[in-house]
Amino acid sequence: PILLQKKPDWFRVRREHGPNYLELRRLVLEEGLHTVCQEARCPNIYECWNQRTATFMILGDRCTRACRFCNVRWGRSGTVDWEEPRRVAEAVERLGLDFAVITSVNRDDLPDGGAAVFAATIREIRSRIPSCGIEVLIPDFLGNWYALRTVVEARPEVIAHNIETVPRLFRVIQPWDDYGRSLELFRRVQAMDDAIALKSGLIVGMGETWDELLAVMRDLREVGVEILTIGQYLPPTPRHFPLHRYYTLEEFEELRRIGEEELGYVYVESGPLVRSSYHAKEQYERYRAR
Ligand code: SF4
Ligand code: SF4
Repeated sequence: PILLQKKPDWFRVRREHGPNYLELRRLVLEEGLHTVCQEARCPNIYECWNQRTATFMILGDRCTRACRFCNVRWGRSGTVDWEEPRRVAEAVERLGLDFAVITSVNRDDLPDGGAAVFAATIREIRSRIPSCGIEVLIPDFLGNWYALRTVVEARPEVIAHNIETVPRLFRVIQPWDDYGRSLELFRRVQAMDDAIALKSGLIVGMGETWDELLAVMRDLREVGVEILTIGQYLPPTPRHFPLHRYYTLEEFEELRRIGEEELGYVYVESGPLVRSSYHAKEQYERYRAR
């Protein structure tokens, strides 16, 4: 059985609580903020936090969708906290970040899906630390393209939206999402402002085939995506969607090679522990220098 498959060597993450890690943890707690790093039990937390990189999660810690691979709790996050953009910007400033990643749970309960809070957070960071690069990892806003425009007009450097898996598996893994709608989101951003870098992410090991993966990579390129992250699925708990298989390091490298050399991506970050925001700053820097 798959669950008895031997864990590969890369699975063992070194756990080092450095001083930056501890400072960041204190700050996040003090400011009442949420990070994806913690909520998603990201395996890179020690590395990223020690390098002063973190992904802030705005608009609450409960999500109105319940993707079967995700550890974020289901539910409604309640009313919008308009002080949150300021607190996030303050944390970015106090931490001295020069690249900030901001994401959110899905807020399908809000008419604009939380787009105005994204925009306010971008502007608040911009006004405090003009040199700080900003990546927003956004939901699909249920296809509300007016909401999308609100985010685009705040002009982040990077707009990311994760496709996560192949269209055949959407129905079982993330039935509230729509493959075509996600592709349309990229088309729309590009039409609104083509200076914004487009980025997406895939999780592998949930039962997709190699050809299906390549087809998604081609589709994303066609709608203007230039940065792609590909990482191994690790079920957060036994209640989550079961692992289908581990990819080998060679397969991750082959996906990177195909993406960058054959499909024309500027940057493909592909590896077992890669998560959407892993090396986000380096990706944007290569994008800018392209
Ligand atoms: Fe946080 Fe992203 Fe780093 Fe994971 S990869 S620890 S979510 S910044
Ligand atoms: Fe998790 Fe995002 Fe799915 Fe919500 S929409 S359950 S936060 S992956």
